[in-house]
Amino acid sequence: MFRSLMVANRGEIAVRVFRTARRMGLRCIAVHSEADAGAMHVAMADEAIAIGPAAAAESYLRIERIIEAARRTGAEAIHPGYGFLSENPAFAEACAAAGIAFVGPGPAAMRAMGGKAAAKALMEKAGVPLVPGYHGAAQDPGLLAAEASRIGYPVLIKASAGGGGRGMRVVADAAAFVEALAGAQREASASFGDAQVLVERYLTRPRHIEVQVLADTHGTTLALSTRDCSIQRRHQKIVEEAPAPFISDAMRTGIEAAAVAAARAVGYVNAGTIEFIAEDDAFFFMEMNTRLQVEHPVTEAVTGLDLVEWQLRIAAGEALPFTTAPAVTGHAVEVRLCAEDPRAGWRPSTGRLSRFVMPDGEGVRVDTGVREGDSVTPHYDSMIAKIIAHGGTRGDAIARLRAALAATRVEGVATNLDALAAILAHAGFAEAAPTTGFIAAHEDVVLAPPPPAPTRALIAAAVAVLVAERDAEGGAGPWCRHDGWRLFGRARRTLTLRAGDRPVTLAIAYGPAAWEITLDGATHNVSAEAGPPMRVRIDDARYVADCSLRDGSVGVTLPGQGSWRIAVEDALTPASGDLAGDDRIASPIPGRVAAVLCVAGDAVTRGQVLVVIEAMKTELRIAAPVDGTVARVDVAAGDQVEEGMELVKLEAATASAPG
Ligand code: ADP
Ligand code: ADP
Ligand code: MG
Repeated sequence: MFRSLMVANRGEIAVRVFRTARRMGLRCIAVHSEADAGAMHVAMADEAIAIGPAAAAESYLRIERIIEAARRTGAEAIHPGYGFLSENPAFAEACAAAGIAFVGPGPAAMRAMGGKAAAKALMEKAGVPLVPGYHGAAQDPGLLAAEASRIGYPVLIKASAGGGGRGMRVVADAAAFVEALAGAQREASASFGDAQVLVERYLTRPRHIEVQVLADTHGTTLALSTRDCSIQRRHQKIVEEAPAPFISDAMRTGIEAAAVAAARAVGYVNAGTIEFIAEDDAFFFMEMNTRLQVEHPVTEAVTGLDLVEWQLRIAAGEALPFTTAPAVTGHAVEVRLCAEDPRAGWRPSTGRLSRFVMPDGEGVRVDTGVREGDSVTPHYDSMIAKIIAHGGTRGDAIARLRAALAATRVEGVATNLDALAAILAHAGFAEAAPTTGFIAAHEDVVLAPPPPAPTRALIAAAVAVLVAERDAEGGAGPWCRHDGWRLFGRARRTLTLRAGDRPVTLAIAYGPAAWEITLDGATHNVSAEAGPPMRVRIDDARYVADCSLRDGSVGVTLPGQGSWRIAVEDALTPASGDLAGDDRIASPIPGRVAAVLCVAGDAVTRGQVLVVIEAMKTELRIAAPVDGTVARVDVAAGDQVEEGMELVKLEAATASAPG
């Protein structure tokens, strides 16, 4: 076995690989960009080497700098994680040339599976079923459009070099083909440096089912159970589980055998994943990911294997000690907690994690690469943690995961936490096999705004303020008001809170051990036991309220009921306004301008895309909020923009009269 390991990656996957390496007694070596100098994966390593500026293209994607760092530190092996260089055969070759073991497959297998188009051609030969489509080398738009018509609409255009759901466009009919093709090609060139696309029949109620494979250099290739990753937004997985539920034994056997055949066809070694798209009992090869997958923990939970340990052992030349896959125990479900705002089109969100509390408990695993106080920057992926639960049955695993999400607190960035909880709570997820259209079909539930803050939450927020004031007595600051506080007798004051857009005024009378709080005409006797989490008593009922004060507001979570941010109107609240009016179209996020689709003088209609911003590996299409004329364009393709920076100035057409 190696004595040292470098991870050519960052975030949760670097941390996760180091955890196993450390357990196996290996020296852990990190590389990092300037933006990650203080990151968790760096803090946890024995040695760390800075490899360049924040942009991945200048750091985590620089092969020569990573090899140089490995040489300097004497790393015997490099684990590439996922993303970045993990599927780059030139990187595997550079490792070999430097005498360093690459923890992954050989470059030939990577190359064979690297392009979706070439991989499909290869799989066709190996007898693995494919989605009907066109995966040829000729890329003339006229030819592609003709192929799309032959395949039959709707079709899906995919970047051949694609990954992570990028470079993909669903096309409903022939009229929309040309624009969609241009979009997919642009995203493909920008993300992968390769504009080649393929066209497939777009299945309308498919499931994403994949098979984890593990192969050693001694001829053993095993299928380690299945995973269902059908819950996706923007073609990116956010909920994954193992084994795939609701499939027949015949299908399970068939899909695992097809996966082993696919891996063998390219002489695959190490851990990899064959992805299939399935409809009813039919399944079709989609692609192979020649690396460890984000969702590998669910497979680890049900097989009891540490996949990273086996990746390292296989890379060191060891043989798998078993020739059949271990039996599956129970069921596991994972969610990807992302810094993003589901109700704003799942737009990524950046900021400092002012609060970051992860769950624990029996059967619960958390993989993360950030800590409270860390920043989520626009440079990398928006995923901040994976939360995984394992149970005896699928129902047990879901129940555990729901409880774990209820104990999760993140503040400082928007997250998809509520959306994930809503998915897990949905009967359509619990009782039947979800398809990849699940989120779109249940947007009303998944994107539902939180219910209005109940009285209990408002009183908890008031109590949090009163307790903070009491504790800070003699201090100074927004939470230290003394005008209501008397040693003797009772004093009265009011406190105005704002939850959503409803201001609520509470009348408070101070007593020796409790407060009397009047709200909506009812008066309650209220006291509190300091936490965390705080316990509030209202009259004869006690409940837990998890409260945190920040920036003139209180975050209140009532476990199992919801979370609310409640503004305190008479505290010092920093002014915050929406920078963009109707005429001033601003970037919602720091990023890079991928395309400008208008020029000054253009007449545009509401909803027309004016600018495309690329941030956190996502293309955000910025549309005109109203009909109007473009007065000025302030940016050009390739520009870096800050959050709130003006992109386009629009002159609205005649303002519509209020109805
Ligand atoms: P798929 O490619 O099928 O979506 P995964 O679900 O395993 O497979 O997602 C891996 C993808 O996620 C990578 O291709 C990459 O684009 C992206 N990704 C996620 N996290 C990171 C990260 N920390 N660094 C780089 N890429 C990442
Ligand atoms: P990536 O490399 O980005 O992971 P994939 O080829 O694995 O790309 O596809 C990602 C997702 O897109 C799938 O999980 C599925 O939800 C959807 N998808 C892919 N191919 C099809 C298809 N032919 N019909 C319908 N949905 C598809
Ligand atoms: Mg995929």
